[in-house]
Parts: sequence; C-alpha cells; structure tokens
Amino acid sequence: MERKLFRSGIRVAQGFIDPFTDLPRDRPRSLMNAQRTIRRPISCAGIGLHSGNKVTLSLRPAPADSGIRFRRTDLGGLELQATVKHVGGINYATGLTHETVKVDTIEHLMAALVSLGIDNVIVELNSPEVPIMDGSAAPFIYLIQEAGVKTLPVERTFLKVLRPISLTRGDKRIAIYPSDHFKVTYSISFDHPLLRHQERTMRVTEQTFVDEIAPARTFTFLKEVEMLRQQGLALGGSLENAVVIGDTGVLNSALRFEDEFVRHKILDLIGDLALVGHPVIGHVVAHRGGHALHTAFAARVLEESDAWTLVGGNAGAPAEPATAALSVADVEQLVP
Ligand SMILES: [Zn+2]
Repeated sequence: MERKLFRSGIRVAQGFIDPFTDLPRDRPRSLMNAQRTIRRPISCAGIGLHSGNKVTLSLRPAPADSGIRFRRTDLGGLELQATVKHVGGINYATGLTHETVKVDTIEHLMAALVSLGIDNVIVELNSPEVPIMDGSAAPFIYLIQEAGVKTLPVERTFLKVLRPISLTRGDKRIAIYPSDHFKVTYSISFDHPLLRHQERTMRVTEQTFVDEIAPARTFTFLKEVEMLRQQGLALGGSLENAVVIGDTGVLNSALRFEDEFVRHKILDLIGDLALVGHPVIGHVVAHRGGHALHTAFAARVLEESDAWTLVGGNAGAPAEPATAALSVADVEQLVP
C-alpha cells in the first residue's frame, strides 16, 4: 500500500506513520509573527544513511523559546540543543556533539522544521543518526504536516542581515546580503559530463520549500560510493535514498527535477543555516559549498553580531526584494 505525498509525486509506504500517533492532518498556517511547535507527537522509522542502523524518530511538542532539541532515548533521554555551538563531526553530513551526546545527519530534518516555521520541538532518536528516509526532506514535511502545527503566544524573532557577511575557503564561497526576504542563490560546478554547472535563485517560503526544494534528494558519484564505504560511511545508502551518478547516467530510474542536484544543495544550506537559531532575513549566495562551509558560515554569522539585528513581529512580511535580479556573478561583484 502506498499513498501520494502531496505534490512531490513521492510515494511512501503506508504504515510509515506510527499508528498510535497518526492523527488527522492540520495544515500549517502562514502566521509569521508567532512561534510554533507541533500539535501532537508523531513518529517514523528508517535507517541511518552512514551507520546503516535502524532508527525510530519521534517529534514532540515543546514550549516557546525552547528551540529545537535532540533527545537520545537510548542514552536515558540526554538532550542536545540544535545550535551552531554544538556542530561537530562533519563527514558528508552535519552532526552535533555536546559532552556525551551526539546526533548525526540532522540537516534534512532541520531544513523541514525551519521551513515550516517549527521553532520549538523535541526530536527523539533511539540511535545516533536521523533516519535518511528517501534522501530528501519530503518525508519530514509529511510528518510535520501530519502532526499539525500549533501557534504559541510568544513572538518569533528573525535574524535580519544589515550588511554583507562572507566566507571563502579555496574555490568555495558563501555570503549573505541584506534583503527583505530569505532568499538563496546557489551554484555548483563539477568536473563530470553529466553534472557541470547548475545554478538556482529562489525566495524561500513555506510553499516554495515544500514544492521546489523538499523533494530534492541527496546525491553522490558512483566512484565515491566505494571510498565512502571504506571509511565506514554510507553503509545505509542505496538507490532508495540517494541519487547515484555513474559515468554514463544516473543509476536511479529518474530525477525528480532536471536540476535536482542544486536544489538539494539549497536544502542542505537551509538545514545547516537553521543552526543560527532564528529564521534568517537575507539573501545567501553560495558557490560549491558543503556542510563544512555552511556550518562554518553559520558560526561566522553569529560572530559578526554587528552585521545583523534581531527583529520581531511581521519582519518577514512581503516587501519588494532588494536583490531579486542578481545572478551569482553580479553578487560576487559585491563581495567585500
Ligand atoms: Zn543533504
């Protein structure tokens, strides 16, 4: 039995949702000014991409100003705040470490939570790694929408960028510029006949994330798979949870988007940048980034505290975008 996952065209097995917590859907509303949590607990099961372990993930409602917290039920309920201060163990995925608690591969779940405006939630895991599901954020969107969204009577604060912040490491670059919205421009370049250059600019809203970004799957090159396995990584990887690019074509039956690869990089960036702890208002421009660059940049943003301000209320409400028509090349002219 399968059922269709919204507009993404993805099918997930019936029974993916815990029958004890699978309650009627309550679509999130677009309130911009109040904090949110989920309405009721919900669970799913899957495997860790890198560990290959089976894992159960549960989301639980949490009070205002408590943020996103990971709880390891296999460690007696020890918890870890999802913040850039706890980033550790970047190895083809983003991990958090604090004292004896560790969680890995958090980025797709984080992207889904922040994009649906879930400011406060407890993420319970019985293993160190968030399940990879189908390699995208779409199953987590489905999970959150099934749980429903609850608005809390406390104002949300946004991190609004006032002047550019940038970080360059070799040929990898990332910067953020003032804008009236959260926007992302991403470009990737590979030395591979099937994947040379892809670039995409978009304003990220709940709807554009759900429709255009969440279904984009993680990808890897076939020649990297053996190397990853030798390092003890990608042990749970398969064509069910990653796009694999061979010498002559994609090994999977089809791509979900022609530019699925750059869309997935935007997904990863949104999840990693969520570790600043506030929804961001600014235009991020990234070239050839990865989790190490994204998370180092999130730390840089917090360090440069005179380059942004925290604003509340309807700061995220629509206004004319300041950098709408700029390409990566245009924006690079602005990099300080
Ligand atoms: Zn990813």
